[in-house]
Amino acid sequence: MNDLDALYRELILDHSKHPQHFGLAADGEGTGTSYQKNPVCGDEITLRAHVDGDVVAEVSWEGRGCSISQASASMLADLVADEGLTREEALHLVEGFREALRSRGTIELDEDVYGDAAALSGVSKFSARVKCAMLAWVALEDAIAKA
Ligand code: ZN
Repeated sequence: MNDLDALYRELILDHSKHPQHFGLAADGEGTGTSYQKNPVCGDEITLRAHVDGDVVAEVSWEGRGCSISQASASMLADLVADEGLTREEALHLVEGFREALRSRGTIELDEDVYGDAAALSGVSKFSARVKCAMLAWVALEDAIAKA
């Protein structure tokens, strides 16, 4: 394991132990909620997005499961909630993440774009874990569509 792998591993553990934006924000106008389950691993995520005008103003979530699924949700919520992304920008991020995760290790996520979530690039080499990492991102896509 090289230094970068070690750093990424630590980031994933850190987010799974100290999940960001955990605990669902109040439901209401402009919010969309999505429940997603990965039966293979037993991961569950409920994610709520609040879209204000065209801006994804808030992302909150709850869930349980393996450290990759929980860390991924935490990293995603951090990324989207802090950037004030538009709906389209957020969906574009999900698309790029999906492409990298399905690339079997050939596409690395850009840290400047994905922040801590770039640490999940390595998951794409383990096809059994791709669903774990994707779960929250699929939930965001769905939640935005419903908001
Ligand atoms: Zn999992």
